[in-house]
Amino acid sequence: PQRVLDVRNLSTHFFTEDGAVKSVDQVSFYINAEETLCVVGESGCGKSVTSLSIMQLIPSPPGKIVGGEILFNGEDLLKKSPEEMRKIRGNDIAMIFQEPMTSLNPVYTVGDQIAEAVILHQKVDKKEAWKRAVDMLREVGIPSPEKRAREYPHQMSGGMRQRVMIAMAMSCNPQLLIADEPTTALDVTIQAQILDLMRKLKREFHTAIMLITHDLGVVAEMADRVVVMYAGKIVEESATAELFREPLHPYTQGLLDSIPRLDQPTTEKLHVIEGTVPNPLHLPKGCTFAPRCPKAMDICREKAPVLTEVSEGRKVSCWLHVDPQKQPSGKEAAS
Ligand code: SF4
Ligand code: MG
Repeated sequence: PQRVLDVRNLSTHFFTEDGAVKSVDQVSFYINAEETLCVVGESGCGKSVTSLSIMQLIPSPPGKIVGGEILFNGEDLLKKSPEEMRKIRGNDIAMIFQEPMTSLNPVYTVGDQIAEAVILHQKVDKKEAWKRAVDMLREVGIPSPEKRAREYPHQMSGGMRQRVMIAMAMSCNPQLLIADEPTTALDVTIQAQILDLMRKLKREFHTAIMLITHDLGVVAEMADRVVVMYAGKIVEESATAELFREPLHPYTQGLLDSIPRLDQPTTEKLHVIEGTVPNPLHLPKGCTFAPRCPKAMDICREKAPVLTEVSEGRKVSCWLHVDPQKQPSGKEAAS
């Protein structure tokens, strides 16, 4: 399959008064055409910084992409000029966020905003762009789209605003849609409707989706493949079914143990991962998950494991999955 996006060894750091924070540290992953990849992890793990790096929307300073490649259809986005990136953003790669109010302009009607986005990227006149805006609002399931196109964002509910954002994102038929926690602020019923909508649009427009979420329920419903991030690194990569059947990394196991299951009595206490995400300025030596890991061994506190392919399409970064023969001995590890 064609690789729409191929991120290689991406590192994005934030330079603060107290030192450099490696928000994204040597991250590599890819997304195939028409595929949904979920990036999952707790807040602060580097998911959003990864997506903002792809779009080159990292606030700089203090942020900076310090290394790697971001190949989009084989071309490195990090070598594009700001002008070229402006043409790619919104046209070839579109993005939606958790809170649509922050990306919608309160003083323009939603129809005007979508039309504006269309005019910016395609050679169409105002009338045609407006027609396109109304069509897109209909496409995302907004009733009476001709009328609603003339409304302002504040006249709409949160769910409707997210539909508008999706309409705007899809209006230029992007090859890749990056969605950062698109349903997190919505109640469960609306959340399910928005996820349905994204699946429908993916089928109709053949868009690849990078979906960022902390919610494994969303992953189960949406993802073809998953990458799990912890403290700025990818710790596991897998096809979705295999990840749920047999999570390999203790962090992934902890995440899966902490979701409520319908087939278990509700009285059963949910397992939560003990401890907190490490301070990014003072990451522990060795495996960054070691302080929270129920399976940590001596070597884990000495030397960081590397992400390694353990079977076709499956990678994990954990000493448990390295042949003991190939693990450094105590002395080597400590050096
Ligand atoms: Fe746990 Fe060690 Fe694996 Fe890290 S490397 S996840 S500490 S077992
Ligand atoms: Mg985030």
